[in-house]
Amino acid sequence: MVQSLWNASQASEKTTGLEQLVYRSNLIGSDRSVCNIYGGNTSTKTTVKDFRGRDVEVMYVKGSGSDLGSMEAKHFTGLGLEDIRPLIERESMSDEEMVEYLGHCMIDAKHPRASIETLLHAFLPYKHVDHTHPDAIISLCCAHNGKELAKEIYGDRFVWVPYVRPGFTLSKMIAESVFSNPNAELVLMEKHGLVTWGETSEECYAQTIKIINEAEAFIEARVNEESLFGGVKHPALAADVRRQIVSRVMPTIRGAVSDSKNDFVL
Ligand SMILES: [Zn+2]
Repeated sequence: MVQSLWNASQASEKTTGLEQLVYRSNLIGSDRSVCNIYGGNTSTKTTVKDFRGRDVEVMYVKGSGSDLGSMEAKHFTGLGLEDIRPLIERESMSDEEMVEYLGHCMIDAKHPRASIETLLHAFLPYKHVDHTHPDAIISLCCAHNGKELAKEIYGDRFVWVPYVRPGFTLSKMIAESVFSNPNAELVLMEKHGLVTWGETSEECYAQTIKIINEAEAFIEARVNEESLFGGVKHPALAADVRRQIVSRVMPTIRGAVSDSKNDFVL
């Protein structure tokens, strides 16, 4: 099972939305069964003062080229939400168009380039969003009957999004699927990963861990040792028979590996 690494006293020192996001991201990235290296991304929506001193709604999201486990505040990209929101009305958008558009939404030109998965965070109306690639969820999302298994685990609390490569279309599909299920607590992306959210950074992290553990518990309960990897093909020989075989073959093996350059295997 995946362990929660949340430390209340460390977390309480993080006061801004961005600091809380950095803390959560590092926790997620420090467990590779939650997120693989350089994989996944996290975000928070908050209000900051812009260069003219006005309050603006900003989404901080992991930028391209960093890893959740080691990233710092400077590795997040701040994007003006008011500029991004109208995009959901579009029918389609190429990667080039999207990257160029997001470039105009950046609140600071020194921030890293926004990743191709940015819009999946922006289109969801939740304050904190995690997108991860957890081992247990990947097993589920890659299974031929993954959606049926997910129903057994999560009931009607999930939405399933068929495989589409990351970009505008996938982000819009995720948002629309979530909007159409009032009970949705998570998104399972076929052959890809997980999306979870929360009203606080702690709630979001707890939800990511809880959802993964529900899948882990389900998988563990169904692992049948006897049929694992096709089951036992050849029963093991009795210990005394194994010892007899070893005593007969070992002199030959020793001879074969020790007959040159005075190297001896004892
Ligand atoms: Zn992903």
